[in-house]
Amino acid sequence: MAKYIFITGGVVSSVGKGIAVASIGAILKSRHITVSVQKLDPYLNVDPGTMSPYQHGEVFVTQDGAETDLDLGNYERFIDVNLTAESNVTSGQIYSAVIAKERRGEFLGGTIQVVPHVTTEIKEQFRKLADKSQADVVIIEVGGTVGDIEGQPFLEAIRQMRKDVGRENVLYVHVTLLPYLSSTQELKTKPTQHSVNELRRTGIQPDIIICRSDLPMLEETRDKISLFCDVEREAVIPLPTVDTIYEVPTLLEEEGLGRLVVEKLGLKDIKGDLSQWQELATRIKEPLEPINIALVGKYVELQDAYFSVREALCHAALYHNRSLNLLWVRSEDLEEDGSDALLRSAQGIIIPGGFGVRGIEGMVTAARYARKNEIPYLGLCLGMHVMVIEFARHIVGTNEPNSTEFDESTAYPVIDLLPEQKAIKDKGGTMRLGNYPCQLVDGSRAAKAYDESLVQERHRHRFEFNNEFRDLLQKGGMIYSGLSPDGRLVELCELANHPWMVSCQFHPEFNSRPVRPHPLFRDFMGVAKEILREGAQPSLPLPPNH
Ligand code: GLN
Repeated sequence: MAKYIFITGGVVSSVGKGIAVASIGAILKSRHITVSVQKLDPYLNVDPGTMSPYQHGEVFVTQDGAETDLDLGNYERFIDVNLTAESNVTSGQIYSAVIAKERRGEFLGGTIQVVPHVTTEIKEQFRKLADKSQADVVIIEVGGTVGDIEGQPFLEAIRQMRKDVGRENVLYVHVTLLPYLSSTQELKTKPTQHSVNELRRTGIQPDIIICRSDLPMLEETRDKISLFCDVEREAVIPLPTVDTIYEVPTLLEEEGLGRLVVEKLGLKDIKGDLSQWQELATRIKEPLEPINIALVGKYVELQDAYFSVREALCHAALYHNRSLNLLWVRSEDLEEDGSDALLRSAQGIIIPGGFGVRGIEGMVTAARYARKNEIPYLGLCLGMHVMVIEFARHIVGTNEPNSTEFDESTAYPVIDLLPEQKAIKDKGGTMRLGNYPCQLVDGSRAAKAYDESLVQERHRHRFEFNNEFRDLLQKGGMIYSGLSPDGRLVELCELANHPWMVSCQFHPEFNSRPVRPHPLFRDFMGVAKEILREGAQPSLPLPPNH
């Protein structure tokens, strides 16, 4: 039977609870303990797919096509597992399931209540993941912070689990923040005490408290938390802010978290090997020569909207022994200021996914700039649409070609709705989602990158390359370097007369891992590193006697 670790958050959100969860997963995995992870999101949306990236950040897509919280991306990258739809549960899903059961008459005669009906449905989801994954330990993160109205049913459900599966099989970890007060120069513990009190009000006493702080924690602070929150001294784990998230597994292990978890859950304590994380963190912190990559997008004010893209770029840069210098370019600014000022130092341009017409013309400007100046370009989903639109405009010699997503009456609908999307009216969960196969075309840059003939990649889109324009663009120099196995859908395209301008209909960023960068990102970065732009010249060695 699986053991459960429940992680709650206190004081404020965004302290890196997801990274702590992912790191605990990595620590257990390093001890040969199998883990699976689940994120509980207290909002009423069925999934985050219908939310604006400004509200929610990136939507992470699992192989089986679930639109999920971006924390799942961190779980996958840290634990190196491919998760499934069961790993993200929202209040919206829980309530829809309970109401559907009520309508089917499964509770005939009963009054449907939060306790027990909603909490039972929540616990059902814990067991479902435990059964499906067959993991030794299931780590479950409760989204939000303790005290949120929306989170109450989840807290009640995790409280009940201790009784359901036995005290020895359940561990409660609370992640809090110790704010720093500059006037007295100390980390304050009171918010943590309040937060633990709030948790206790729901009947949960944490076994371990992870304390986030911007400065190192003093021993007396640890004593205080131990005393006031009633946890053992060594179960107060400091987690100061670090330079890179990949340092966190090593840091938590050094503080004894791994040993504590296996001890408390009665698991076999095999010495963990976290050297790969240590090496990774050391390399990231080395002063490597930077590569300037411009990310041209419409949600750049909220960098979390491109979380996996940024990580994938970072993995690829590291592979080439370089650091990533990401230039965030608001696509709308390219419409106003022209491209040269904003893209002058870019050694590579990436256009990630997105929806809606805002900022599209700025992205087209960026794609034109990349094509004309022979700057390496990687287009992801929307980035492919933009590359096709720009190239078609160049071939046709007018600005008419467009996607029907942005101009329904264009004379050149080079990107159009997928036929199977035409009749769909609902917006939630109805895109082409998850893994689909892609056959690579020999001799192409994409095939060279993958060094495989058939790959599976994750999708999330409604629009695609319009086959009516295949010949026209091919004659102009576009190569269709990846197709669906039936040849019907263009999955990858590139330009013949350009050093490296490659786009894909899918989202390769979701498959990149810290020590295994995605082949397309890797090769994009490999070409970009050779490009010399303003500010990117390596410093010359000083002459002798200088
Ligand atoms: N908006 C485009 C579509 O729906 C692209 C989506 C994306 O970039 N994920 O097809």
